[in-house]
Amino acid sequence: MEQGPISTTEAINKLIQELNKLPSIGPKSAQRLTYYLLRAPEEQAKLLAEAILSVKQKTRLCSVCFNVTESDPCLICHSDQRDPTKICIVEQPQDILALEHTRIYNGRYHVLHGAISPTEGVGVGSIRIKELLERLKDSSVGEVIMATNPTLEGEQTAMYLHRLISPLGIRVTRLARGLPFGTELEYADDVTLTHAIEGRQEF
Ligand SMILES: [Zn+2]
Repeated sequence: MEQGPISTTEAINKLIQELNKLPSIGPKSAQRLTYYLLRAPEEQAKLLAEAILSVKQKTRLCSVCFNVTESDPCLICHSDQRDPTKICIVEQPQDILALEHTRIYNGRYHVLHGAISPTEGVGVGSIRIKELLERLKDSSVGEVIMATNPTLEGEQTAMYLHRLISPLGIRVTRLARGLPFGTELEYADDVTLTHAIEGRQEF
């Protein structure tokens, strides 16, 4: 392990290093969080540690839509309140969170777990495309909504899927333009997302 400054302890350095591995947590933030936890009541630290472990131990992927879930099928796939004739395709589980937050969409989802990116070596076989096609076969699905990110990879993925799905006689739509190019769905605000879903267009 890297030697920390002499004014700290090994335990403190270890926590700083681990927090620093998290996305958008730089060395300064990692230090600040570590010293915050050091001062916080032991109960709070315990709850945080338990929450981190339980997210790893209790959640798995829904065998239908590949969203993260504690029960299989997930609550959305299981619910008879959701329209089974619509499937919205997203790149990541957190995109579902953003779309659900708008309360405007009442269909089901399919999580690809990535987007096709030849430059990063993410090929067609590395994301859940095969499972999607399997799901569409002999199903009552009448509309597939492309909600991949408005990025180069997201667009490529949507175009690829459109070529595969439209010959099946299923309507393919995409979220309305208005999401700025290069942004990710999970960071879009509710109003923009609501307009994007309501104004969805033929692919
Ligand atoms: Zn599901």
